[in-house]
Amino acid sequence: MRKALVIGGGIAGLSSAISLRQGGWSVDVVEINRTRDVYHVGIIVQSNFLRALDRLGVAEEAIARGYPYAGFDLCALDGSLDAYIPGVELSRKGHPTDLGLTRPALHDILMGAATKWDVTPRYNVTFNKIEQVGDKVNLSFTDGTNDCYDMVVGADGLYSKTRTTVFDAALLPQYTGQAVWRYNLPRPADVVRTALFQGASGGKAGYCPLNDDTMYLLLVMREPGNPWIPRNQLAAAFTDRLKQFGGRIAHIRDTVEFDPDKIVYRPLEAILVPAPWYRGGVLLIGDAAHGTTPHLGQGAAQAVEDAVVLGAIAAGDLAVADIVRQFMERRYARCKLIWESSLQIGRWEIDDDPDADVPAISRAVLQSLSQDI
Ligand SMILES: Cc1cc2nc3c(=O)[nH]c(=O)nc-3n(C[C@H](O)[C@H](O)[C@H](O)COP(=O)(O)OP(=O)(O)OC[C@H]3O[C@@H](n4cnc5c(N)ncnc54)[C@H](O)[C@@H]3O)c2cc1C
Repeated sequence: MRKALVIGGGIAGLSSAISLRQGGWSVDVVEINRTRDVYHVGIIVQSNFLRALDRLGVAEEAIARGYPYAGFDLCALDGSLDAYIPGVELSRKGHPTDLGLTRPALHDILMGAATKWDVTPRYNVTFNKIEQVGDKVNLSFTDGTNDCYDMVVGADGLYSKTRTTVFDAALLPQYTGQAVWRYNLPRPADVVRTALFQGASGGKAGYCPLNDDTMYLLLVMREPGNPWIPRNQLAAAFTDRLKQFGGRIAHIRDTVEFDPDKIVYRPLEAILVPAPWYRGGVLLIGDAAHGTTPHLGQGAAQAVEDAVVLGAIAAGDLAVADIVRQFMERRYARCKLIWESSLQIGRWEIDDDPDADVPAISRAVLQSLSQDI
């Protein structure tokens, strides 16, 4: 049995552990966090995410734990409905076109599947040294152990140590000029799908159901200079940035006392590692290779797609050099398109560009996503 190490037990890491086990590999996972907990934010995903989760055998569970819905509402700044955008069916019949899900729920689901495949991440552990020797990758770990592997999957996110150690220390994510604000709230009965309010200067706001009880309010906004906002000013800053919006968002802004400890404020940073995403038997996947912004809601889906494709290619008896080469052939163009398109939408928002053509970009991305992985 060939042996892989996955660095990072997040969405890409756990998904690739499952898919490599499905393909007959033995898999170890190291995760730098001390515990398996992940912070409570929501993600919005589309049906290509479910199509990929289906290959891991966990799509039904994700649907059951999340809030399935169809399409989203585009609203004017005052909250009036401009257009309903239907969702696109890319997964199997009966699966929703769109899903809201909390990150802890997704993590539980992937952990459950990994456990069934006898994969138990080692927490509070990362690597110290990594070295290709012949056709093996030798590593020493921060818990004092050493081991060698046929393939190493760097799934350690936007600030990947695998990338800066094995590839180039200068390959770091760059601030895009916007930040995202998120806040979980009880879900009113009539919030049954995502709504996005457009027309604001610098970004957009919206809300999204995550499960029967919870929804979240989101704001993507221009933040010149990437300011650090002290905790005691977060609630006022969030309220201030919501002033442009009417309708339900104004109602939330005017009636909810935001708890600064529960505001998730994240500057948007992005990186697209130039091809190829491998050196010898070390391959980068997920945000480590193509960390993007949330404008197309595709980060998590692309992470799971990477994992599924890797597992499918590795299931045969190809040499590792051929596995990583084929992986690039199947993944690079799609990830690059999504990465560039997401950043383009963000730039249009930052510039308040009157010529922005989001529908054209969305059509091109959809055409790419329509092709199965
Ligand atoms: C606020 C926010 C909202 C988002 N919303 C959406 C959304 O609505 N829809 C969507 O599709 N995507 C969304 N995304 C993007 C999505 O979360 C990412 O694309 C996705 O998490 C990428 O998965 P990953 O496994 O590559 O990276 P991560 O999820 O970041 O996982 C990386 C893992 O590696 C671990 N790690 C890091 N360094 C090391 C190390 N040296 N050694 C060992 N382990 C290490 C980390 O602790 C982590 O567990 C959002 C992102 C943010 C920040």
